Amino acid sequence: MEEERFAETIDSGMAILNEYILDIQNKDSNVLSGEKAFRLYDTYGFPLELTEEILEDKNIKIDIDGFNEEMQQQRERARAAREESSYMGVNNGILDKIPSDLNTSFDGYDKLELQSKVELLISNEKFVDELTEGNSGILVTERTPFYSEMGGQIGDKGTIFGEGFEGIVTDCKKNISNKIVHIIKIKKGKVKINEKITLKVDKIRRNNISKNHTATHMLHKALRMVLGEHVHQSGSYVDEERLRFDFTHFTALTQVELKKVEYLVNENIMKTSTVNTKLMTLDEARESGAMALFDNKYGDDVRVVSVGDFSKELCGGTHISNSGEIGLFKIVSEAGVASGIRRIEAVTGLTALKSVDEKVELIKSIEKDLKCSEKDILNKVSILTNEIKEKDKEIGKLKSKLASGSEGDIIKSIKDINGVKLAVAALKDVDANSLRDLADKTRDKIGEGVVVLGSSINGKVQLIAMATKDAVLKGVNCGKIIKEVATICGGGGGGRPDMAQAGGKSPEKLQEAIEKVESIMAKLVK
Ligand SMILES: [Zn+2]
Repeated sequence: MEEERFAETIDSGMAILNEYILDIQNKDSNVLSGEKAFRLYDTYGFPLELTEEILEDKNIKIDIDGFNEEMQQQRERARAAREESSYMGVNNGILDKIPSDLNTSFDGYDKLELQSKVELLISNEKFVDELTEGNSGILVTERTPFYSEMGGQIGDKGTIFGEGFEGIVTDCKKNISNKIVHIIKIKKGKVKINEKITLKVDKIRRNNISKNHTATHMLHKALRMVLGEHVHQSGSYVDEERLRFDFTHFTALTQVELKKVEYLVNENIMKTSTVNTKLMTLDEARESGAMALFDNKYGDDVRVVSVGDFSKELCGGTHISNSGEIGLFKIVSEAGVASGIRRIEAVTGLTALKSVDEKVELIKSIEKDLKCSEKDILNKVSILTNEIKEKDKEIGKLKSKLASGSEGDIIKSIKDINGVKLAVAALKDVDANSLRDLADKTRDKIGEGVVVLGSSINGKVQLIAMATKDAVLKGVNCGKIIKEVATICGGGGGGRPDMAQAGGKSPEKLQEAIEKVESIMAKLVK
């Protein structure tokens, strides 16, 4: 649903951008204002790079300074709005009151367990001195190995424990001033302020998240190699189950392209390359050729994550230490999420193996149902499809044979309405094609006149009216007849004076409608 709405937004964004382009060309200009570029970004979800790429073909540039200024203003507005709105289902007020000089450093890139002092405890919107068994709340410590949800990577889960207490961390987030907060529940005993506790991240879960995150970087690189340098990340989401990567590209990927991308990633997994992390300045990062959207969302020092010599990207997330740990990478879907934005979902490690297993299971059950071996599946399916086609043909023939049985009865029903012959019938279970055949034949038989037939089939009504040339000259109009008849049957339709068709929703009205034809005819032929 949300994706549909998103696609709609992008489509209207394209329309707006086209208007802007026309406007610029009419004014003999070659610059798109920062305000307009920002509107496309903010309202229609167009990344600046995408707008830039579209405009490049038209020789139009974007006022980047103006765009950045708008972006800054937006940030300030957002901050003001956030201060008023809620956070994690509770009023945000208390989280904003965490002192800005409090240190809550993330030490979890290489440590998954450490000891730290409890700085703050929050329960029911209040700072408290302790949290006891059964209570949920928020815990802030001086240092933490827990990764807080950021940059598309989900927050860590795990446990906390100390003197006589145990608890679980169900999520980890940041407040608006980047302070790390743990969402916790106390299972046993109580945790007190200033106490030294142990924080321990769920290692397997973190490892699976890291595999998916490193694989996301490799996918990004592979896409650029296979599709071209116009591919930019426009969003990503990484959790322990799967990874999702949104990127700029205008057409669906072909099977060949998908295979190439998947192979490229797997080849580099098998190279068992070391994953390295380096802190450097933004300029150094840019010079090193690291992939990033070099906008002002980065601070002075940036973290550059490289996978061997394959991928190099700015990133604050967690990663595995060797590409080989990913084991296997499988793309599970590729789709468009908006005009110019594609989405790939993929899985790694044992989850990837499971997805391959599922395919194998599927083939096995098809074998069983079709009673053939794997290599004969395609052949068997094509034989079955042909059989069904033949049977459909046969059924069609039988149906029209059945319908033609009614022909005699219809001929017998012929009446004379002001000098024009009229044949009518309300039939059952005759489909539209057979009804038409039947009307054709009846019209040919009566020589000169009108045929109006109706059939109730599958809870619906099919209607047809046909008239010979002479009948039309005498005032008959099949379009008008069928319109009135169809209205009685809860439907609509029309057509030409010599032929008209319609459908209706009320089979129980068919008999009454067909009986009405005589009086409709009488009005037309005088
Ligand atoms: Zn990353």
